[in-house]
Amino acid sequence: MANVMTDTHEIITKPKEIVFQRKAEHVIENLKKRNISAIYCRTCKEAVSEIRKLIPDGSTVALGGSVSVIQSGMLDVLRGMNINLLDRYRLGITSEEVEEILRQGIGADVFLMSSNAVTADGKLVNEDGRGNRVAGLIFGPKKVILMVGVNKIVPTVEDGVARIKNIAAPLNCIRLGADTPCAHTGFCDDANCHAPARVCSQIVITESSRAKDRITVVLVGEELGY
Ligand code: SF4
Repeated sequence: MANVMTDTHEIITKPKEIVFQRKAEHVIENLKKRNISAIYCRTCKEAVSEIRKLIPDGSTVALGGSVSVIQSGMLDVLRGMNINLLDRYRLGITSEEVEEILRQGIGADVFLMSSNAVTADGKLVNEDGRGNRVAGLIFGPKKVILMVGVNKIVPTVEDGVARIKNIAAPLNCIRLGADTPCAHTGFCDDANCHAPARVCSQIVITESSRAKDRITVVLVGEELGY
């Protein structure tokens, strides 16, 4: 009789870790063909430590709205670094101050964000409400660092957009208290979703980076963010 596996590490954790790593390696190879630098970190802790090394002392650092950056502990580390952090999450910050910080972010030295999805062939898929996050990704900051959980790797751009509409956006709408169709049902209803509640305004597909290694994707072998 065949052995029945009862060790949860062997039947759940280990296969997941292997698949995560293989997916990440495949994506990294394809990101590099697009002039986008990329590394794999098994854990958030490793990722935070690697990202820290990529940020020069004294630099101005801006944040694209990112649950991953908060969840991973990256934000707390940034707050303790010798940098000028444009901290949009500072306690007590007013909406006018956030608006000003978002504007300043476009001219920052380093822009730190996540990506809504990364495709198997190395494209970045992002949708934004205000547009500051995709603006910083496209042009302005000299260095852009993306902290991306392996849960955001998808086969195609279409899968990336579907992931935004039916996973990321509903969660963000609940978090932000936005009264959108997906906040009520968990699924997108584009035709019945309008400003100002709507969080989906601009879709950006990054197919390559003109400036070599301006963008670095740090893939993390854990479920991270939305
Ligand atoms: S378009 Fe509206 S309903 Fe659809 S995912 Fe975006 S916010 Fe939700």
